[in-house]
Amino acid sequence: MISETEARTRVLAAISPGPAVKVPLLNALGLYSAADVLATVPLPGFDNSMMDGYAVRAADTTDSDSVIRVADEQPAGKDRQLHCAPGEAIRIFTGAPMPAGADAVIMQEDVERDGDGIRCREPVLPGENIRRAGADLCTGQIILRQGEKFTPGRLGVLASQGLASVQVHRAPRVAVLSTGDELVPAGQPLAPGQIYNSNGLMLQALLAGQGIHETTAVHCADDLESTIATLRQLLASYDVILLSGGVSVGDHDQIKPALHALGITPDLWRVKVKPGKPFLFARHEGKCIFGLPGNPVSSYITYQLFVRPALLKWMGAQELDLVRTPAMTTKALHNDGDRPHYLRGILKNGQFTVTGLQQSHALFALSQANALLRLEPDQQVPESSAVEVLL
Ligand code: AMP
Ligand code: MG
Repeated sequence: MISETEARTRVLAAISPGPAVKVPLLNALGLYSAADVLATVPLPGFDNSMMDGYAVRAADTTDSDSVIRVADEQPAGKDRQLHCAPGEAIRIFTGAPMPAGADAVIMQEDVERDGDGIRCREPVLPGENIRRAGADLCTGQIILRQGEKFTPGRLGVLASQGLASVQVHRAPRVAVLSTGDELVPAGQPLAPGQIYNSNGLMLQALLAGQGIHETTAVHCADDLESTIATLRQLLASYDVILLSGGVSVGDHDQIKPALHALGITPDLWRVKVKPGKPFLFARHEGKCIFGLPGNPVSSYITYQLFVRPALLKWMGAQELDLVRTPAMTTKALHNDGDRPHYLRGILKNGQFTVTGLQQSHALFALSQANALLRLEPDQQVPESSAVEVLL
């Protein structure tokens, strides 16, 4: 059995980012940039008005009794190249370019209209209500770096640059192969001793959650010949195979014999972690195979610990780790086992409470959790201890 750190290091060392491709902006959501992207259009693009009001010379607004003549009008959308002379104002609207000579905008709510003139109730300061060119983003500034994620906000900035497409690392095509004679697909009745296949869907959902949508989920019985045939087929058309179940040492666990028959020697098998001990990783002609234990919580945790960072690396992401955050335990906790234990719990208002049964089959308890707490073997954590949890 190898340590969790060694397993992770070895898995990650085996992965390199997939090919970079150009995709329409919206298709990049949730993917990672394959290049640094620099601004070519400053934000704002030109000095413009923050308000509907009047472009003025601030010095002209100090006397609330004097009338400033409104000489012209500058709407948004077309720069009329106007000039604001001393003692004059230009009617202006939000987003319209500032006329030369004006150094402030007075809000229309702060003036009294008097024929073709205005009286300023409140003086404005030079620069007031003007959005300066490049104040938010300058030409040449980095919008996002290689390996950073395309979020809605970042896509908005890229759209502001007039870009229609960006370079991403293509997400891998992933097949989920659930093994087990006991598994029944949704919609069919359960015979005694059978269970529905929950891992297939859950693993596909985990993949979709990290931006991987080209996936399939198939099932095969605990039968060597069909395991070999299915694996061979999937390896021909997918980049990554996630196996669920059959990776342990039971008489019906066919994964290792099937890999052997295909001439595949696992890079690693069995990791010192709870849940998830039987985790396996193998490679074959540039394809990656992750063997996840069948117990749903083990499948979920080994996905988070090993599969998630590996696929993120494949997708060219810079940040591979789960987010860590400080928390206080609401109860005393103890790991009396000989492997690090990832407890499943709910983090709410900075308080971490384990949710339900902490056993590797307890899927409902897992489903209630939003955070993991890693306890070292023999680690005791008293109630109200400061800990760090993984989101
Ligand atoms: P295995 O790793 O094949 O020995 O399976 C361990 C446990 O996980 C057994 O109780 C299986 O019934 C259960 N299991 C295996 N595959 C799945 C699955 N796809 N969905 C739900 N439970 C499963
Ligand atoms: Mg099984």
